[in-house]
Amino acid sequence: MEDVMVKGERRPITTIVFVFAMQKEAQPLINRLLLVKEVNSPFPKEVTWVLFNGKYKDLNINIVCPGKDSTLGVESVGTVPASLVTFASILALQPDLIISAGTAGGFKAKGASIGDVYIVSTVAFHDRRIPVPVLDLYGVGMRNAFPTPNLIKELNLKVGRLSTGDSMDMSPHDKESIIANDATVKDMEGAAVAYVADIFKVPTILLKGVTDIVDGNRPTSEEFLENLAAVTAKLDESVTKVIDFISGKCLSDL
Ligand code: SAH
Repeated sequence: MEDVMVKGERRPITTIVFVFAMQKEAQPLINRLLLVKEVNSPFPKEVTWVLFNGKYKDLNINIVCPGKDSTLGVESVGTVPASLVTFASILALQPDLIISAGTAGGFKAKGASIGDVYIVSTVAFHDRRIPVPVLDLYGVGMRNAFPTPNLIKELNLKVGRLSTGDSMDMSPHDKESIIANDATVKDMEGAAVAYVADIFKVPTILLKGVTDIVDGNRPTSEEFLENLAAVTAKLDESVTKVIDFISGKCLSDL
């Protein structure tokens, strides 16, 4: 982290990579910033990953999504595609900052409501249970997001911990781990993006819009689909405020 801070103090942030799981989640931002699909993709020809880019103020904005599963045609959600696109994007685009953005389930017991946009303080996994000393901690993989005290204060963002797993539903085992992780929001990618970014010491922040209440009384997928459009619009508003704040600043100003 020290290296990152030193680098950050020297020059303003110029290149941002947003990692979204679903293009649907990214579309409002793509439209608003007039980003265009990169035709000379830096990714291997075999992959379905899509890259949109453009300039916004003094920032090079890139949005990557894993794209549609080549067999089933559905969005490639989950940790495996998210870590691959993060890895390839870091190598190809050398970002100063990664932003994992998207939707999440929220816990009303921890204060979450539909449409809230959270900035994440820590990430962890809830479906990597390895009951062996030290490997248990590796499995949970708790990491801090890049600290952004000024951004949080200025934008009045809600702050919470994120727990990531490869299932959209919540098994009793997952529930136990999510509680142990003290999570307010639950998704399927965030901790994986943060894991890869941490290897390369690329600072990462995570913004998650709540589409469904996990500890409520409605089926998750029904609530998710119903709120997806409205919540991605709210997420877009918050992301725009965040990049307006970031523009012209160094990492250490965040
Ligand atoms: N049916 C959807 C895919 C849903 S997968 C489609 O239209 O293709 C759920 C996605 O939203 C994942 O990317 C995940 O990160 C996020 N998400 C939203 N609510 C969630 C929840 N309650 N639990 C886990 N992930 C959730």
